[in-house]
Amino acid sequence: MSITQLPWRRPCREWSLSRVAVVTGASRGIGAAIAKRLSEAGYELALVASSPWLEAPVYSSRVVTYQADVSDYEAVKAMVARIKADFGRIDVLINNAGITRDGLILQMAEADYDRVMDINLKGQFNLIRHISPIMLRQKSGRIINISSVAGLIGNAGQTNYATAKAGTIGLTKSVARELAPRGITCNAIAPGFIETDMTKDLEVPLQQMIPLGVSGQPEDIAATAVFLASEGARYITGEVIRVDGGMGM
Ligand code: NAD
Repeated sequence: MSITQLPWRRPCREWSLSRVAVVTGASRGIGAAIAKRLSEAGYELALVASSPWLEAPVYSSRVVTYQADVSDYEAVKAMVARIKADFGRIDVLINNAGITRDGLILQMAEADYDRVMDINLKGQFNLIRHISPIMLRQKSGRIINISSVAGLIGNAGQTNYATAKAGTIGLTKSVARELAPRGITCNAIAPGFIETDMTKDLEVPLQQMIPLGVSGQPEDIAATAVFLASEGARYITGEVIRVDGGMGM
């Protein structure tokens, strides 16, 4: 049976010429690398970070920067309305913003548990909650949630973080099921150990923990994100792709 004969709707409609991507946590690290690659692929960009942007990054396509705390439901609602007014549409959401507040379970402060859950998990819900109505009206869209290998296999000292990142996988699969009939896909990427500000103070025995023996770069995650946003990934939804040098296998 060919794809066109399948009884459900096409996974996504043809992209318009001007595609718009929202990237959270885009000021540095993985989010900045994803934004750069999306820009090179021709997407217009709405870039979100929690701190004020000193200046908008110069990419090869149109860029507008927004400052918002993704854990704040009302602030995200207002920001999405501004993005819709600025760009007219949203084709891709990259839910990337995240933090760590590591500690052993016996010592973990309630505030550190709550903050990690609020930003890493509820933050992704907030963006999806306010952007999915726009994608539903368009009958197309791509949602890509950045999880972590810690959400798949756990990590001592990261109960809060691994719990939130496991949550993003349930969020991804549930949203994928709900929105699939309307041509919207939702997938997760589970990075392993990627060299960014988040990991710069960690000492990791790379050879022991990572079969490929080296840490990853933000560009490794960006390449997968751009693929999941592309037409070539139109038939992938509810998937979790590890980009971890084999760490989580
Ligand atoms: P990073 O610390 O370099 O960048 C984090 C980004 O998130 C920054 O742009 C920051 O402004 C933004 N941010 C933080 N809190 C925010 C908030 N409340 N509202 C809006 N933006 C906020 O981190 P990174 O290493 O680039 O990580 C990016 C994502 O990848 C995170 O979700 C992280 O959990 C995930 N991840 C990273 C690794 C790794 O090894 N670096 C591994 C697995 C998963």
